[in-house]
Amino acid sequence: MRQSYVAGNWKMHKTIAEAVSLANELAEGLKRSPNKLMVAPPFTALSAVGPAIAAGGILLGAQNMASELEGAHTGEISVRMLKDLGVRVAIIGHSERRHVYNESDELINQKVQLALTEGMEVILCVGETLDEREAGDVERVVGTQLRAGLSGVENVSLDQVTIAYEPVWAIGTGKTATPEDADAVHRYIRGWFAETYESDAAENIIVQYGGSVKPDNIAALMKMENIDGALVGGASLKAETFLPICRFND
Ligand code: PEP
Repeated sequence: MRQSYVAGNWKMHKTIAEAVSLANELAEGLKRSPNKLMVAPPFTALSAVGPAIAAGGILLGAQNMASELEGAHTGEISVRMLKDLGVRVAIIGHSERRHVYNESDELINQKVQLALTEGMEVILCVGETLDEREAGDVERVVGTQLRAGLSGVENVSLDQVTIAYEPVWAIGTGKTATPEDADAVHRYIRGWFAETYESDAAENIIVQYGGSVKPDNIAALMKMENIDGALVGGASLKAETFLPICRFND
């Protein structure tokens, strides 16, 4: 039985004081949750948010990390610096990193491999653009992102890996994939794991949906057989919208 996993990506929002205030509200509201929960504040708020969310059993996440361990990489943040701050999970390959900052599958794979080697969990994001969906290319695109992103990753490391299926056209747009359409892609992802890894991999891998998840659509999404959780952007920025999403099964 896979544990439900809800993660919030705060992107480039919130000062330290604002982040701590939200973290305190979440920790208070989610103390007894049966679900796995994570929030990824901006880097500047990680050290302040970590202790605040610990009381609620919420994991500290990073929105990105460097592909190299250390060195002359101005402006980058390394996996060991993140671990120093108590970060347990790194979001890798978010569509904004792929499409706005031109991160390649090869770079994303370097980050995934480094994170896993260093004992960090990852949420690897995959998903198609609207043009790719309209061209009937969803499975090819998602399959390529999985194959490339997880290249070199062994079966034994899969318990550190979560997949987030995030159709690019649904992120921050208010458009959500129907639960049935999302579930079809999640089923494809599970099938890909069955073909690529040992037999229990497909059953155990957690696949989140992301793309305009809100309190009023989470229940319908979570009813689907292959949807195990959500990666939430906009609605994770306020306790009044993130708490009901995290508590979808109360
Ligand atoms: C995201 O940033 O991963 C995301 C899904 O954003 P939103 O929920 O705002 O669509």
